[in-house]
Amino acid sequence: MPSPSELNRRHFLQTALGGVIASPALVKASEPQVGDSQFAEPQRNLPMIHDADVIVCGAGPAGVAAAITAARTGAKVRLFEVHGCLGGVWTAGLLTWIFDFNKPGLTREIMEKLDERGARRGSDTGRFVYEPDEMKLLLEDLCVEAGVKFRLQTRAVAAYKEGKRLTTVITESPSGREAWRAPVFIDTTGDGVLGALAGCSWELGQMGQNESSQCLCQPLTMNALAAVKDVTQMQKYISFYEGDLKWHVEATKNFKADIQKAGIDPSYGMPTLFHVRDNVVLIMANHEYGIRPDDADALTAATVRARKEIFAITRALRKLGGVWEGFQIIASAEQIGVRDGKRIHGRYTVVKEDLENGTRHADGVARVTFGVDIHAKSKDDNDKLTIERGGIKKFSPYDIPLRALIAKDVDGLMMAGRCISGDFVAHASYRVTGNAVAMGEAAGVTAAIAAVSKRLPHEVDWSESAEKLKTMGQRV
Ligand SMILES: Cc1cc2nc3c(=O)[nH]c(=O)nc-3n(C[C@H](O)[C@H](O)[C@H](O)COP(=O)(O)OP(=O)(O)OC[C@H]3O[C@@H](n4cnc5c(N)ncnc54)[C@H](O)[C@@H]3O)c2cc1C
Repeated sequence: MPSPSELNRRHFLQTALGGVIASPALVKASEPQVGDSQFAEPQRNLPMIHDADVIVCGAGPAGVAAAITAARTGAKVRLFEVHGCLGGVWTAGLLTWIFDFNKPGLTREIMEKLDERGARRGSDTGRFVYEPDEMKLLLEDLCVEAGVKFRLQTRAVAAYKEGKRLTTVITESPSGREAWRAPVFIDTTGDGVLGALAGCSWELGQMGQNESSQCLCQPLTMNALAAVKDVTQMQKYISFYEGDLKWHVEATKNFKADIQKAGIDPSYGMPTLFHVRDNVVLIMANHEYGIRPDDADALTAATVRARKEIFAITRALRKLGGVWEGFQIIASAEQIGVRDGKRIHGRYTVVKEDLENGTRHADGVARVTFGVDIHAKSKDDNDKLTIERGGIKKFSPYDIPLRALIAKDVDGLMMAGRCISGDFVAHASYRVTGNAVAMGEAAGVTAAIAAVSKRLPHEVDWSESAEKLKTMGQRV
């Protein structure tokens, strides 16, 4: 670690240069080394920025919730997002349907603000449709109001520890390669990117860290928004139409029958339409099987296949005429939806038995009420059973403890959202976005308390975090 005099000098430079530390050359750049199959990059010095108490990587539902909450707690917060908008699967993934949102705290606040903006369909507080572009705007407004410094088009690409403690994250962005130091980091990349870069152990789908087979994991899905001629004539096909929460399975059967009549066997056995607004619907009709989210070539190929399939479906349906006349895609998701990413090992692992036993914890940060939702892992499985429940005999609502949000192998690192510590079956339940937000809140407040009081996250008792949330009016 740097000496106190070096820190003072850095502090002076940091203040003078608005957060960017200019230091003398630390290493001499060497020439690149070119081998047959390897290229050794020359070393270089990066600008180093040390202006945050908490750095959050990934701005999906969990990351935005973590950043807003940490900032409201009083911490200086940096939030990095690789896409050009906040919201993750909510926005770049065009999800439009929210599950398990009926919780105290930020979930309620987001829901009320969507209502104020007329951007929510349905009267249920746990499950509803939202408009993805309104969500982008709302999340930006909330982050700006909370004082979160967020950066778009910025990807975390490396992480460095001092001893067991994570101290520095490297990003790549239009501003180049930069180093960022902070006392506490939160991995909300969904895919566990930061935890893996920092050297944490992890699991992916039904695979251990060292298995490199075709992914034994849930399929990916490309979502799209589509225009219809007259939505009032399409009740038969639209899930949860006008807030009818029982109207789903039959709607998907009707939609599938028409897709088949149009000559296509959809890769997803329960193709779904949601009513977003006016004559705009969301179409979720595709599955891409066995794709690892950390294989860029496989992800690219899956994205190309998926987009082709949903366009083929809409074009074929249009030819049927009737209610499908004029049916066309108006926006396909920039980001294909990934269900299974790396689950970073934490100080507790949520397991299938917790779902059967309805396990409660003194440090429970979110109560999950959504059951297990495992989409078929292959087209063959899909034709037999599209969604299975992981062998759970009886599901009982259960707690996610704070310990599942704190990395086991690396200090100063928390997780929230999809990449927390859990097994394959438990993940298939807690991953939905109401829980991602609740976990983000818990990680945000705990990280902020730890950073400002110079402790590590595991040294903060959940009762202290919960009390803080109450005083902020976030968990009442
Ligand atoms: C097809 C599909 C359907 C689903 N259906 C539902 C549903 O109906 N209702 C529901 O509530 N949930 C649903 N889910 C689950 C839910 O969308 C996700 O589990 C949820 O978005 C998890 O939130 P998150 O913040 O952990 O991750 P994400 O939403 O994946 O967000 C992670 C963010 O991190 C960013 N990121 C990744 N790597 C980096 C990096 N290195 N540097 C910087 N940023 C990075 C990503 O760009 C992304 O914005 C569905 C998911 C999918 C894929």
